[in-house]
Amino acid sequence: MADSDKKTKTSPDAKKSTLGITVKKGEDMPEWYSQVVLKAKLADYSPIKGCMIIRPYGYSIWQSIQDYFNRVLKELKVENAYFPLFIPESFFMKEAEHAEGFKPEVAWIESKPAGDSEENQERLALRPTSETIMYDSYSRWIRSWRDLPLRINQWCNVVRWEVKDVKLFLRSREFLWQEGHCVYETEEQADSEARMILDEYAKLAEELLAVPVIKGRKTEKEKFAGAKTTYTIEAFMPDGKALQMGTSHNLGQGFAKAFGIQFLGADEEYHYPWQTSWGFSTRLIGSVVMVHGDDKGLVLPPRIAPVKVVIVPILFEDSRDEVLAKAQEIQDLLSEFEPVLDDRDEYSAGWKFNDWELKGVPIRIEIGPKDLAEEQAVIARRDTGKKEFVKMKDLKEIVAQQLDDIQKSLLERARKFLDESTAEAANWSDFKELISQKKMVLAPFCCEVECEDEIKSETQGVTSRCIPLEKPRELQKDEKCFHCGKPAKELVYFSRNY
Ligand SMILES: [Zn+2]
Repeated sequence: MADSDKKTKTSPDAKKSTLGITVKKGEDMPEWYSQVVLKAKLADYSPIKGCMIIRPYGYSIWQSIQDYFNRVLKELKVENAYFPLFIPESFFMKEAEHAEGFKPEVAWIESKPAGDSEENQERLALRPTSETIMYDSYSRWIRSWRDLPLRINQWCNVVRWEVKDVKLFLRSREFLWQEGHCVYETEEQADSEARMILDEYAKLAEELLAVPVIKGRKTEKEKFAGAKTTYTIEAFMPDGKALQMGTSHNLGQGFAKAFGIQFLGADEEYHYPWQTSWGFSTRLIGSVVMVHGDDKGLVLPPRIAPVKVVIVPILFEDSRDEVLAKAQEIQDLLSEFEPVLDDRDEYSAGWKFNDWELKGVPIRIEIGPKDLAEEQAVIARRDTGKKEFVKMKDLKEIVAQQLDDIQKSLLERARKFLDESTAEAANWSDFKELISQKKMVLAPFCCEVECEDEIKSETQGVTSRCIPLEKPRELQKDEKCFHCGKPAKELVYFSRNY
């Protein structure tokens, strides 16, 4: 009895049970999610309630997203800049709808150090979003049609204080994001660029993160406070909840009027310009965890994986030097993929396998004494778990192919899930049944705020996600709202959401 106890305590299996994920994704997704985020070292809880700490491994994924999107911004002639974290209360109050919409979540600095100058006595908000502070500057920078279009983006943190229970990457009082703020002469330009950004967001989600999305427009109830139109991309998570991945707003002229932004047109008259704002945040990382992860942990799409390939040598006393030399040779051969050679002595090969699987590294290469004579190595894929022997001479080509293939098949698998998760309801009882089956439900809707409020309260939280831009079908003339029976205006997606 004592012997077997001792054995379990020191065996690699014992280590695995404490370090690995202890719940199944399909059985308890919230617990699975926080274990994966914590144990893969993406993020950690903070001593400040409602906040999160992004660890280097998680931050490196954010940097891949930034690198990708900075290239897109350059193409679109959007320049990066930085505005202050603090927003004077008077700025905030200028656009009434915006002020009202953000009221519950704004954190204020209520007292400032004694001795702060008289003119500095106004209350300051910690930015929940930067429209107001940026547009004050825009009103001084924009003079004539020659100053337009003005296209600026900033990468920063924002603070939305109403969050109580932090969900790492998904809901926290402070998070990182990018926010683009552009100004145009005409509404056509503003609206077409707002939609172009949405297309870029959809490409980022699908091509970089391998997370398929539905592009759409928000209903009156769900649109951004102060916007004319809000466009959105919505993904669907395995637990039956939608996740808004990014939004792009046609702000109309409301902010221009509130902030006195005017330009002298080529016609020598003054005009109010049209504006857009658009953003995505670190919650994208949460979507990657949920969509691709499995019972062993994270599964990362190669294009954002901080480590794409790991080489694990199988070491024994008598062949140690030869195997290590071969492993280094493989590391050099695959240098374009920047592989990590895990030659740590203090861990067994089995422990390392589990550790890298937990971290979601797309490809593992194993090299042991038996492979030396055969001039081969083993390639193991994280997404399928499939292992195969590959000759040294083919290794580089096969690794490149498999990384491509993993990226594609993760997207295909997720797209299949999204397709299978959408369903149509014509009436209230079908709707409730499909929602209970954790579907994203398309339904004919009157689009009235009051009706949507009732749907939300009667279902404890189901909201409209979007009016799809690519319509699955046309709305018929006599179709009725699935909830109130008034004439339907649009086909709208509804579901629970993060
Ligand atoms: Zn209705």
